[in-house]
Amino acid sequence: MSERTAGPATRTGGPGEQEALDADARDTTCRRAEFLLPPLPASARHPEVAYFAGNSLGLQPRAVRAAVLAELDDWALHAVEGHHRATHPWLPYHAELREDAATLVGAAPEETVVMNSLTVNLHLMMATFYRPEGERTRILIEDHAFSSDSYAVRSQAVHHGLDPDETVVRLRPRPGEDCLRTEDVVGHLAREGHRVALVLLGGVNYLTGEFLDIPAITAAGHAAGCRVGWDLAHAVGNVPLALHDWDVDFAAWCSYKYLNAGPGAVAGCFVHRRHVTDPDLPRLAGWWSTEQATRFEMRPELVPVPTADAWQISNPPILAMAPVRVSLRMFAETGMARLRERSLALTGYLERLLTEVIRDRPLEIVTPADPARRGAQLSLRVGGGRGGAGSGGDADAAGLADRLHRVHGVLADVRRPDVIRLAPVPMYSTFHDCWRAAEALAAEVSPS
Ligand SMILES: *Cc1c(COP(=O)(O)O)cnc(C)c1O
Repeated sequence: MSERTAGPATRTGGPGEQEALDADARDTTCRRAEFLLPPLPASARHPEVAYFAGNSLGLQPRAVRAAVLAELDDWALHAVEGHHRATHPWLPYHAELREDAATLVGAAPEETVVMNSLTVNLHLMMATFYRPEGERTRILIEDHAFSSDSYAVRSQAVHHGLDPDETVVRLRPRPGEDCLRTEDVVGHLAREGHRVALVLLGGVNYLTGEFLDIPAITAAGHAAGCRVGWDLAHAVGNVPLALHDWDVDFAAWCSYKYLNAGPGAVAGCFVHRRHVTDPDLPRLAGWWSTEQATRFEMRPELVPVPTADAWQISNPPILAMAPVRVSLRMFAETGMARLRERSLALTGYLERLLTEVIRDRPLEIVTPADPARRGAQLSLRVGGGRGGAGSGGDADAAGLADRLHRVHGVLADVRRPDVIRLAPVPMYSTFHDCWRAAEALAAEVSPS
């Protein structure tokens, strides 16, 4: 641990802190009071957590408890009749979430459905859109892909009788760089695209925070004859999206990160209009895939619906849908444009403070410096430059994150071996949180 003892407790009241407090006082977008903050360890020098892990699990909106209890009450009160009589009738429950979800991702309502979990939805999408044929068999992902996505695409290759090592191509950043360059992805597709059946990339990378150029890469994939899908786990509720206009084939996202709908929350899915109106696409189906009007006639064959609902399989988990309904409402009320505006200010402010702190310390920001190429997250490599993984001492990422939390009440997360991710979440993080994070890092990492 550093010998320096300067921290929030000793620097309180300085001009830097006043600037942060003033920025918070002027702010009219932040909805922090509507969220529950976890209590801090008794060792922390500050009474309130500075929560920077909303990109991993978003905070609980206060309104969620009542929404879940209301479903329990409706179940007690109506039992089976709740499908029609509940305050939010269960039969068309998912439809109540559709408009808000569509607005959030820049889609038409019929292109959007809230269902399942993220990786399950990726598989359902691949059941339709990954159709290896002839020499066009590859799936293109990024080398920094989230493990679940990597396992999912490899298992799809195996499912089709293909060798996953040959089928899954992992795009790497240039040597010495952390992020992908759009021109390199586009260049790969121009050269090798005829072998690629599916491009499946993360819109915002979970590790580096890089926001890829979705429209440019989608267009390059289509020009090469590929299907192009996006994992928006770290993009949804973080950056503005226009999935319909960007002509994306499909996308899937989870609802527990920036969307604050709780652990394992029900996820979302987008299928472009040109596909939802195509009844000939192969899909995996269940009774929630068929049209609602005749669903309970229990026919042997389904009646296709020209919406993303056609990819639904089971009746939705209502108790788990309630938090998503609450959360999507909050995003609809505030709007992504306002959240993005606040996010640019907040992340820009954190970057300015961190740039000062890391100048003489073994820390490096790996997230792109261009605000258009990132969302709310700044990832810090701990331990002095590239290849400095596991350098130990007070620059060890896991130990550092632990002290930030225990001593300073700053909750960030670690991606081993050497990355600390800080996400100033536009819905509830404050400028003062950012100031505290920078102060805590300055106190805990010795200048080199
Ligand atoms: C968070 C995340 C997941 C998690 O998958 P689940 O199916 O929700 O458990 C998958 N992929 C990416 C890119 C993620 O960021």
